[in-house]
Amino acid sequence: LARNLDHLAGLPGETADGHRVRLWVNTGLMADVVRSLERGAEGVGLYRTEVPFLLRDRFPSEEEQREIYREQLEAFAPRPVTMRTLDVGGDKALAYFPIEETNPFLGWRGIRVTLDHPEIFLGQVRAMMKASQGLDNLRIMLPMISGVGEVEAARKLVERAHRELRDEGYRIDMPPLGIMIEVPSAVYQASDLAQQVDFISVGSNDLTQYLLAVDRNNSRVASIYHALHPAVLRALLQVVNAGHTARTKVGICGELAGDPGGALLLVAMGYDVLSMNATNLPRVKAALRAVKKSDADQLLKQVLDLQYPEQIEQVLQDFLQGLG
Ligand code: PEP
Ligand code: MG
Repeated sequence: LARNLDHLAGLPGETADGHRVRLWVNTGLMADVVRSLERGAEGVGLYRTEVPFLLRDRFPSEEEQREIYREQLEAFAPRPVTMRTLDVGGDKALAYFPIEETNPFLGWRGIRVTLDHPEIFLGQVRAMMKASQGLDNLRIMLPMISGVGEVEAARKLVERAHRELRDEGYRIDMPPLGIMIEVPSAVYQASDLAQQVDFISVGSNDLTQYLLAVDRNNSRVASIYHALHPAVLRALLQVVNAGHTARTKVGICGELAGDPGGALLLVAMGYDVLSMNATNLPRVKAALRAVKKSDADQLLKQVLDLQYPEQIEQVLQDFLQGLG
């Protein structure tokens, strides 16, 4: 699979026998947009809005945000763009909004911050919706959801912003609203959560960190951070099944989606959307197009019987090598 993959850009994400999977990209910087379009991205599964916030020395105004979001939405239209509301705290700190905590990953981050600061949340979703007028390709996604109450509170704010914009004369539909599944509690409550929203997307970077209790950025424990840990795979399977039972589309936007072996397992599990760094898109597409769905199913079955992450990694590596 190491050959030149440029020819893949115009081809759809599907298995050799035509099982369709949406291969989307994660973006943040404008450079990601150009690269994503060159590589034939079919949509954006995660636009990290904290990136423009990190590049400034103060909160961007609603109008500044509208311009930034418009660029994203326009670049990809008519393809969908999933904008995540501000996910600061944890490992992402804004210099002009310091958060001092002993346990930042278990502290005030993501939706917890923006629900405590509705003015930040409202300014963001207003800017997103204004930016989407006439394009209609916006989806809004909430990070770090740990229970249904947060979704209810956030939905109320999104609906209020939408109502206010309509009153101000904007003509925009209420965008699809989704959540990230990246906290273990959300795995166990995935079916309740899925019924509340239009889509769910697994943040496997954080989910792995929280399931294994391994800091994703601590090099001392990096060797036990296993994105393919059997417990992680079981959680991923549980989430996709819960989502589909609720008739909700299920995606994933963590690094695992950009790993060809991981991607094949996710496809076998039934994930509808794999969203990844544009750099990984051609490799994942090549692997997907080289296997039949039934082969991926077989691979998943084999892997789910294994108890050690290292065995799983080995099986995937051998399988990929067999593809050539
Ligand atoms: C994740 O946690 O998997 C994710 C996609 O979000 P981030 O990496 O921005 O925390
Ligand atoms: Mg995350």
